[in-house]
Amino acid sequence: MVMVNSLDHQLVKQIEEICAARGVRLTTQRKRVFELICSSPKAFSAYELLEELQKVEPQAKPPTVYRALDFLLEQGFIHRVESTNSYIQCCSCNAHKHYSHLLICDKCSNVIELQDDSLVALLVDNAAKHDFTITNHVIETHGVCKACSAD
Ligand SMILES: [Zn+2]
Ligand SMILES: [Zn+2]
Repeated sequence: MVMVNSLDHQLVKQIEEICAARGVRLTTQRKRVFELICSSPKAFSAYELLEELQKVEPQAKPPTVYRALDFLLEQGFIHRVESTNSYIQCCSCNAHKHYSHLLICDKCSNVIELQDDSLVALLVDNAAKHDFTITNHVIETHGVCKACSAD
């Protein structure tokens, strides 16, 4: 099992409380997948998560991981990185739905989540000029993180 630090215990506790308040079940598998995602600032693919999960649950199959991911996405605990088809934790385990702006390092796969309301407000404004209602958008920015640019 991947080492989970104290900060992540805090996050796990937070999602346990949110699940209890919403009356949804955080099963052991859902919790394990969340802990794995939180174990690194790097984005994980479903396949990598399955490999990690199989270390503690050898019988785990792809649908096990996909069902857990669907649940975590639906609850807003994680985000899907569309451009790399991978998953990261939400920086705020958000109770309300929001769109993330992700900074993705192409060298180490670390992902930083920005929550820039001014950028989203600008998008909504621009869309409104065309009488267009936004239901979803993806803002992903690729580059090199601080640690990798120091190499
Ligand atoms: Zn988020
Ligand atoms: Zn990097």
